[in-house]
Amino acid sequence: MTCHAVVLIPGDGIGPEVVEAVVRVVNATGVAIDWRRAEAGAAAAARNGTALPESTIDAVRAAGVAFKGPTATPIGGGFASANVALRRALDLYANLRPVRSQEGVPTRYQDVDLVVVRENTEDLYSGIEHIVVPGVVESLKIITERASTRIAEFAFAYAEREGRQRVTAVHKANIMKMSDGLFLDCCRRVARAHPAIAYDEIIVDACCMRLVENPRRFDVLLLENLYGDIVSDLCAGLVGGLGLVPGANLGDTCAVFEAVHGSAPDIAGKGAANPTACLRSASLMLRHLREPEAALRIDRAIDRVLAGGGPRTPDLGGDATTTRYVDALIAAL
Ligand code: ATP
Repeated sequence: MTCHAVVLIPGDGIGPEVVEAVVRVVNATGVAIDWRRAEAGAAAAARNGTALPESTIDAVRAAGVAFKGPTATPIGGGFASANVALRRALDLYANLRPVRSQEGVPTRYQDVDLVVVRENTEDLYSGIEHIVVPGVVESLKIITERASTRIAEFAFAYAEREGRQRVTAVHKANIMKMSDGLFLDCCRRVARAHPAIAYDEIIVDACCMRLVENPRRFDVLLLENLYGDIVSDLCAGLVGGLGLVPGANLGDTCAVFEAVHGSAPDIAGKGAANPTACLRSASLMLRHLREPEAALRIDRAIDRVLAGGGPRTPDLGGDATTTRYVDALIAAL
């Protein structure tokens, strides 16, 4: 049996609780994983003076795969985001966020099944900001032909591989004519090379309205970094919240799997964290590790427990602790 090396980054807030749930459930599938613990986030910053120690980057480079809990980033000042630094250090240029309705979780919409593909390395996340004169700050939005083409190629290749029908590029090129204009040019060029996949474009504000009106009209959404961040949370809200939506950060040599949600300090340590988003991310990781059967077992266990009226965490209207919910999932495996 193959033993897969996976770097495990517990992170901050609810991170250690949801990551522990992942270790328990993945181990219960019988897949052999060599979990290599590493630090990142606010706790790491307090201890080492950096939210992303070199040793963590080296560990992920060596293993090629990491599972990461959420890491906190201070607002308005303090240390730089461990997430952004990790994505940049390992060139994890594609952020993939499948958003699906969950049977047994009542929401306004049923049968939502879309995928957010977010560019992960540039845009306003370049963090290039400076004071022009007191009272005036400039923040640079960097869009390159290379990164835009690469993420568009990723989205179309993903659509072809997963049997998806349509890629929709989301932009604001009516206002940011040069930067978003370049992004669209790249998307159009890549779309022409993939005629089997339908392609269209929508302005980001209209996209938000249409998502709330009828999310079922979308298939694969292709976005720059900032729009992708915001639209991902909107999409999570369509299917039952941040506790459910998984994510993967993918590059040519490394992959880091993590939920869409943040460290949720308001519920940390209370046993109220929903580990489903992390478990679905773990399922994506198992597919990446070519363990599709174990991935399917985890997905089916979640479906069985939630659709069957089993225990659920408070964010989904239940009263189960994280541990009780995970016990039920392991029993359902
Ligand atoms: P950060 O600063 O790390 O982004 P945050 O609290 O600002 O943290 P999120 O953690 O993404 O942002 O989530 C916002 C709210 O959604 C949380 O305060 C929490 O109440 C809820 N939430 C997020 N993730 C979960 C989860 N896994 N289980 C239950 N509730 C969650």
